[in-house]
Amino acid sequence: EQKPIINFGAGPAKLPQSVLCQAQKELVNYGGLGISVLEMSHRSADFSKILSKTESLLRELLNIPDNYKVMFLQGGGSGQFSAVPLNLIGLKEDKCADYIVTGTWSEKAAKEAEKYGKVNVVHPKLDSYTKIPEPSSWNLNPAASYVYYCSNETVHGVEYNFVPETNGVVLVSDMSSNFLSRPVDVSKYGLIFAGAQKNVGCAGVTVVIVREDLIGHTLNECPVVFNYKVQASNNSLYNTPPVFSIYIMGLVLEWIQNSGGTAAMETLNKQKSSMIYDIISSSSGFYVCPVDEPCRSRMNVPFRVGKKEGDEALEKKFLEGASQRGMMGLKGHRSVGGMRASLYNAVTVEDAEALATYMKDFLKEHQ
Ligand code: PMP
Repeated sequence: EQKPIINFGAGPAKLPQSVLCQAQKELVNYGGLGISVLEMSHRSADFSKILSKTESLLRELLNIPDNYKVMFLQGGGSGQFSAVPLNLIGLKEDKCADYIVTGTWSEKAAKEAEKYGKVNVVHPKLDSYTKIPEPSSWNLNPAASYVYYCSNETVHGVEYNFVPETNGVVLVSDMSSNFLSRPVDVSKYGLIFAGAQKNVGCAGVTVVIVREDLIGHTLNECPVVFNYKVQASNNSLYNTPPVFSIYIMGLVLEWIQNSGGTAAMETLNKQKSSMIYDIISSSSGFYVCPVDEPCRSRMNVPFRVGKKEGDEALEKKFLEGASQRGMMGLKGHRSVGGMRASLYNAVTVEDAEALATYMKDFLKEHQ
């Protein structure tokens, strides 16, 4: 008998149990058609229904205005690190873009953009990714084609609780790890992208939401599969899209809708993350989260066990004890060390409570 597992992994991450069960039920015979979604033509009427249902659910959940296109692409979040500059850096003659670099993922995106234009990092390089530099200190270039930021740095646990003010310059956000975890005013953005494998499905599909008037300035060297004009005008069907990942995303979106939408997700995500941060804060330094309080992520909670830099032997023990309780995926990213608890939408309040209880017990035993 398999013991119950609680998955706190950073991604690919936990999916709602009901989604897995439905996918299992429908796997060999989708909707009575006698074949699987895995075997279905992406141009069939039946897949067409899946695609349009997924898109309309997303439009509803995020209130996406009509002048935005929604695309379902391959290549992951990292693919968009290239696709964004390839499609948008040519919006203005200077071909330059502003990047706010607050962690590994925005750093990688900025590095990729340098291949296609001039990149201005709007603040001096941070010596540790534990804060968001004060917005009034940002050196924004009014001639930039866009301003780019990552709304939740998955590795470092740094999340924006505000929308950067760009004074009219197009705003681009990588929302891979907090997509649909809270309401978002899409109209403030030129482009939003998110890989599915954290909050909205499984790996293989990346959602791109882009304002229509920004499409059509693509650089010549852009691979056709990343060309927003081509993909948007073909309804993401220029080539074969990741059909199964889109289907799974549709199921997850339905689950979010039936659970009360992004507002309900936000309430739960606040509740789960504060439970863990409260224990860290009241542990008298036994647990340490290095991130500045105002930008502590609700999705990824990084912490050290033992002392500020972490006591590696104790951290090993912490992970072993967690594993005995069926908790997995708590090891921090190799570049940061320590622990990281990812509390995406599908992680329940009960899951977070189980972790909180374990953290309290471990503290009592080892303090
Ligand atoms: N952006 C963020 C915020 C991420 O967390 C990740 C993946 N962990 C990526 C981009 C890269 O996504 P992918 O692995 O799908 O390329």
